[in-house]
Amino acid sequence: MLYKRSSELFAQASKVIPGGVNSPVRAFKSVGGTPVFVKEAKGAYLYDEDGNRLIDYIASWGPMIFGHAFEPVTNAVIEKAKKGTSFGMPTEIETQIAELAVSMVPNIDKIRFVNSGTEACMSAVRLARGFTGREKIIKFSGCYHGHSDSFLIQAGSGAVTFGTPNSPGVTQGTAKDTLLAPYNNLEAVKELFEANKDEIAAIILEPVAGNMGCVIPKHEFLSGLRALCDEHKSLLIFDEVMTGFRLAKGGAQEVFNIAADIVTFGKVIGGGLPVGAFAARAEIMSYLAPEGPVYQAGTLSGNPLAMAAGLAMLTELNNNPELFTSLEEKTKYLHEGFDKVLEESELDYTINRFGSMLSVFFAKEPVVDFQSAMVANNDTFKKYFHGMLKEGVYLPPSSFESYFLNDALSYEDLDKTISALKKVVPTL
Ligand SMILES: *Cc1c(COP(=O)(O)O)cnc(C)c1O
Repeated sequence: MLYKRSSELFAQASKVIPGGVNSPVRAFKSVGGTPVFVKEAKGAYLYDEDGNRLIDYIASWGPMIFGHAFEPVTNAVIEKAKKGTSFGMPTEIETQIAELAVSMVPNIDKIRFVNSGTEACMSAVRLARGFTGREKIIKFSGCYHGHSDSFLIQAGSGAVTFGTPNSPGVTQGTAKDTLLAPYNNLEAVKELFEANKDEIAAIILEPVAGNMGCVIPKHEFLSGLRALCDEHKSLLIFDEVMTGFRLAKGGAQEVFNIAADIVTFGKVIGGGLPVGAFAARAEIMSYLAPEGPVYQAGTLSGNPLAMAAGLAMLTELNNNPELFTSLEEKTKYLHEGFDKVLEESELDYTINRFGSMLSVFFAKEPVVDFQSAMVANNDTFKKYFHGMLKEGVYLPPSSFESYFLNDALSYEDLDKTISALKKVVPTL
């Protein structure tokens, strides 16, 4: 058996960890079977506990944009660790990474570091509410902004995979302040603004969605949201936890040339350590404690190891901007290779791709929102996932996730992946 030790480790883990994992999507619930336990990883490859080598398309869900165990980052962490791992006092490196991030991303003057994307989004919404003096927010079905209460309303990926779009434990009181609209549907947002005049603090969205699979925004959708926020004096929050420092130095704001009022980060910004951040113009950030009244804090926020990893990562990205183009080219190559194989089959499929993000949906119609993503055939997806895994390709174990390409992937790896699909397609 290919995954004997992984199965044993999963059984053991399940006795002491709920569901055997510390984050639900890892458990393979939506594709069946038992999860693969990783022993180590280098570059584009994962090495599991059974000695299998897998080509990795999740990159730790985004952070490992240069591939695994990337030396500038690992060396920075090792050197920093020798000097103490946490102080609860300010350190110079926090200013260094803040200066670099502010120089790379448009429309932000100040940035606050936290420990996860969840924390970043939760804090961004609190700040928006404090700044505007309003309580309601608009989010889009299928967008995920972490697991804090007000976001677990049709939240995409993990939350959808598990059939609990509205998680027990989230109160009605919280849920009533989160208004929902379909992605790419400006008309629905206009109606929400009309029905809730002067009550909407912010719109939050993934500027390219990744948590219902990769879904691309229409340009007039993003520009329309910007205009509506201006008209109603609400704030536009771009959740760039996935897209930030992945689509471009300046993230989706740069790519689409649309200014957000608050931007959240996670994943790439921490280089594989637990980091999140949120940022805005000085006028908005001045509302944050200790400068202003909106409280937000963290014992390990700005942790030296996390900042060392993040600073090394952002420095590499800042010095090698051609990476974004080369990643996009690789993703396009994979897309075209997949297209060629799938076109010759009888299967209904749609591939969405943006930058280095890509998703394969087994659906005939274009996937533009959560509704159309849900139509995709999950039975086919399960077989596809396990077939590819058998061929040594590790894909996201849910159709509601995006692939994240990393720079360590060679064209040979991509060709192998396309050949794997060729073998798998007849079994679907
Ligand atoms: C991953 C993700 C989050 C949550 O980040 P965590 O670090 O997992 O808490 C929030 N928003 C988006 C868009 C994400 O992809």
